[in-house]
Amino acid sequence: DDTRLVVARAASIADRLTLLIVRDISEQERLQQMRQDFIANTSHELKTPVGAIGLLAEAMESALDDPEQVRTFAKRMSAEARRLGQLTGRIMNLSKLQAADELTEIGDVAVDEVVAAALEQYQVQADSAEVALVRGGDRGMVVRGSATILVEALGNLIANAIAYSPHGSRVGIGVRGTPDAVEIAVADQGIGIAEADQQRVFERFYRADQARSRRTGGTGLGLSIVKHAVSRHGGEVRLWSQPERGSTFTIRLPRADAPAGEPESVKHKK
Ligand code: ADP
Repeated sequence: DDTRLVVARAASIADRLTLLIVRDISEQERLQQMRQDFIANTSHELKTPVGAIGLLAEAMESALDDPEQVRTFAKRMSAEARRLGQLTGRIMNLSKLQAADELTEIGDVAVDEVVAAALEQYQVQADSAEVALVRGGDRGMVVRGSATILVEALGNLIANAIAYSPHGSRVGIGVRGTPDAVEIAVADQGIGIAEADQQRVFERFYRADQARSRRTGGTGLGLSIVKHAVSRHGGEVRLWSQPERGSTFTIRLPRADAPAGEPESVKHKK
């Protein structure tokens, strides 16, 4: 009987192991598929500006006796080259964030400084779009991670808020501390995102229809960078949005200066 019991147990363990292995293989297949999609999408996205630069060069060659036209083509060529540069930069950042290696330059990061740096980066863009950037909320919060990556992530949210908002509107950047987390919200009064698109906007290269027709300069990579950057910091991104009313993206990060860690004796002193 003992033998039978042992055999039965072994069989059940083997079953579970098989299940684990099968699960692991399908996880690997999924990752492999994701990598293939990434390469396919990326090549497709890169083809567009490269093709345009080629065509513009040809057009320029056949317009050499018309300096005005040459200038127009040259301008469009540098715009395409800029776009290509932006695209490759973002693709590199994204693949760095997706790689399993450790984040570099980890340390204590002051949230106030992240917010200030991201705001400064996009002030010119906000001014020319006539959008007011308003900062509010708590001060003095600290998180752990890479300041550079966090500034980029928050900057992407601010850039989107500006780009998808009407002239004369406001974009609010609010910080809120809870006992164990810091929330940084970017709220706009812009075009909003349809419910059906709200999950998908975080996917690589995904752009909602309204955005495609409104702004041709986007890459569809900004939010995917935000998502990966925040999850590498042990946090998450949430989205609330209503078409025509606006969107609020909230980054939630674990707090490094957790006030809950305050010694009991100190708390009881008062
Ligand atoms: P893009 O370069 O197109 O802005 P993102 O990855 O940053 O790429 O955003 C993906 C899509 O999500 C955008 O194309 C747009 O459809 C939508 N989106 C992002 N932020 C906003 C916002 N603040 N308001 C409205 N739509 C937004």
